[in-house]
Amino acid sequence: MEHLQNYINGELTDPLSGMWLPNFEPATGALYSRIPASTAADIDTAAEAAARAFPGWSATPAEERSRMLLRIAELIEARLDDLAAAESKDNGKPLWLARSVDIPRAARNFRFFATAILHTSSEAHATDDTAINYTLRQPIGVAGCISPWNLPLYLFTWKIAPALAAGNTVVAKPSEITPMTAYRLSEICIEAGLPPGVLNIVHGTGADVGAAITAHPGIPAISFTGGTQTGATIARTAAPMFKKLSLELGGKNPTIIFADCDFDEMLETVLRSAFSNQGEICLCGSRIFIERALYDRFRDAFTERVRALRVGDPLDDATGQGAIVSEQHMEKVLGYVDLAREEGGNVLCGGERVQVEDRCSEGWFIAPTVIEGLPFSCRTNQEEIFGPVVTLMPFDTEDEVLTMANSTPYGLAASVWTGDVTRAHRVAAQLQSGIIWINCWMLRDLRTPFGGMKQSGVGREGGWEALRFFTEAKNVCIKL
Ligand code: NDP
Repeated sequence: MEHLQNYINGELTDPLSGMWLPNFEPATGALYSRIPASTAADIDTAAEAAARAFPGWSATPAEERSRMLLRIAELIEARLDDLAAAESKDNGKPLWLARSVDIPRAARNFRFFATAILHTSSEAHATDDTAINYTLRQPIGVAGCISPWNLPLYLFTWKIAPALAAGNTVVAKPSEITPMTAYRLSEICIEAGLPPGVLNIVHGTGADVGAAITAHPGIPAISFTGGTQTGATIARTAAPMFKKLSLELGGKNPTIIFADCDFDEMLETVLRSAFSNQGEICLCGSRIFIERALYDRFRDAFTERVRALRVGDPLDDATGQGAIVSEQHMEKVLGYVDLAREEGGNVLCGGERVQVEDRCSEGWFIAPTVIEGLPFSCRTNQEEIFGPVVTLMPFDTEDEVLTMANSTPYGLAASVWTGDVTRAHRVAAQLQSGIIWINCWMLRDLRTPFGGMKQSGVGREGGWEALRFFTEAKNVCIKL
């Protein structure tokens, strides 16, 4: 059984507590590795190493930092098969998905920010003929990065890459549920020759390690992706310490389908936006609103396609739906299906645990689930489920669907399907979401602002937004 280690000050080390946590393979339910049960003491050591490394790393010319991050990207690409297998085993997602999306994107994150810092510029403001102001954007110091289990290496690197590129050093914590590729990243950083202390990866629970990062006085910026409640807990600690905070939180995203859309393209994409990664993507569209004239046709075609999605061994290329990340999360998702039934929902397909044959017979699988007949205001339609469960709701007017779409406390992403360009712009402007896709889903350009409004988060990631978050703006005013 593999024992993972922390990566602190350039070395792989055991946790100071000498304690370990179990790590399970969702597809089989089997214990297959142990991870450090780190504590605040390990975070102290990591933060000290990061503070020692900061002067050297922040003074390293951008071209050299860029070269180092590009080297890490190359090594991720060279280990694509290895990393994809590790991600699939740890998370339960289909291997083909990890190989085609998660791992390539992790390399892209490094490439994107490694090259972005070669093209940055900062502002200057001339104040009539009395003064000239210019803005210095300087790295903050030690940044704390905390990420979730659904897209483990993809989201971990989405924070670490801009933080390092901007000249900060980092103390990072992956989810204890999916630690494996973060551990592999520490091996890659050692191979790449990243100077000791520039990146430190500490494994353990959110309550111990995550909370210690949040509360550490030597870590002035926290970039967090995860659930809304955890985000609130972090903010309660970090706000009175006046830390810089970036919070990417939960979602309950609407998919809005008007009758004038391209039906075939919409059907294909809505299937993906509902069930990719077992519905465990913060951007998945879990509330599907359909204009009444199209409702029956959509429901029948969609349900037929969902029934045909194959739930199975993540290693099998024919698998559409892999395992749910943990037994606890599977129970939570199934609990929401029970709630939907209690609230009067009609389960059109799925709604139960699936037993997959052979090596996966003890694994945690759920049949993709479609429910209709629920009001937009019920708990099933207001709370984040974060699994392969979607609801269908008909609508008659644009105003009505906007009211329903905007009714949740969340505001992360939305997609709109229509052939009417004017309506697309009008609806996009009125939706309370940080990200709107028109006639598409998950079409990503890493330069665009990424994040949510309302309880889906504070701040934006991506492009200059991320580089701005990880730097402090300093205005220098010179009297002429
Ligand atoms: P959690 O909020 O449970 O955990 C996220 C991370 O925070 C994990 O590393 C976790 O550690 C850690 N953590 C837990 N408690 C604390 C704490 N008190 N202080 C500091 N850190 C803590 O989320 P999940 O991992 O369950 O991820 C699913 C959630 O993430 C969903 O709500 C989803 O919508 C959201 N998400 C949002 C995205 C966005 O971009 N807006 C993208 C992807 C997911 P551990 O796991 O070890 O407990």
